[in-house]
Amino acid sequence: MTAALTGRIALVTGGGRGIGRATAIALAAAGVDVAVAARSADELEKTAEQIRRLGRRAEALVCDVTRREDIEGTLERVRHSLGEPSILVNNAGIAAGAKLSDTTDELWDRTMAVNVTGAFYWTRAIMPMMLKGGWGRVINIASVAAKAAAPYMVAYAASKHALLGLTRAVASEVAAKGVTVNAICPGYVETPMTEGSIDNIQARTGRSQEDARKILEGFSPQSRLMTSEEVASIAAFLCTHEARGINGQGIVLDGGGFQG
Ligand code: NDP
Repeated sequence: MTAALTGRIALVTGGGRGIGRATAIALAAAGVDVAVAARSADELEKTAEQIRRLGRRAEALVCDVTRREDIEGTLERVRHSLGEPSILVNNAGIAAGAKLSDTTDELWDRTMAVNVTGAFYWTRAIMPMMLKGGWGRVINIASVAAKAAAPYMVAYAASKHALLGLTRAVASEVAAKGVTVNAICPGYVETPMTEGSIDNIQARTGRSQEDARKILEGFSPQSRLMTSEEVASIAAFLCTHEARGINGQGIVLDGGGFQG
């Protein structure tokens, strides 16, 4: 895998922690130079340092994916420092558990802006470079909530269903041009976001941290949280030549809970 991806350039949104950091590092380990973009500069710099320690070039870019006006400038910095990206991982995302009656306009708009519109902006901006080079990989970190839903995830499930729709539509458009577009749909993953969900359950129900965690583990028939590294391995595989036939898919990683 390493040789095949050496020289490729990736941009990973939300690459400062959790799944985004693990994916950036997995790509670097496979020979890719990686730019990571999010709002927290210190976290991004830590990821960039880890990438450089693997012998790859890295760029940490402070960028809010919802701000269309930031994207051109951020992309220009990547082109200048690393070159034109041909791998895009749309990973930046937020999750605030809320049922319908608690979903404010602000929560709805914010969730859609980060989880869907940000991915749309970045895909639209980078796709011409992929098409020009005749090779590209777009990987959208969706969720099993892109295919199924549960209570307390109105805006989140809607945003992830929309992200899968974006994935499928763009995949069909570029299928004959050397570019693939896929989504990874994990169940609960051990990350800071999930720590936040555990805190929410604790606050809402008065359960202990351990019991709240068990509730989330129980969503998987393997009774565990997935790991960021498992998601990252799938992302790295989707970038290989061997994965070129996988296009427009939403690949579920949840231990077998969702079978659709
Ligand atoms: P984390 O909260 O741990 O990390 C989220 C990342 O997204 C951070 O780097 C954050 O950086 C970035 N981000 C958030 N908002 C913005 C924004 N407006 N602009 C730029 N970057 C932003 O989450 P996870 O690693 O758990 O999740 C990553 C992705 O995986 C998300 O899309 C999530 O929905 C999805 N996912 C997560 C699951 C889980 O159980 N954890 C399960 C299934 C899917 P910063 O705040 O500094 O901007």
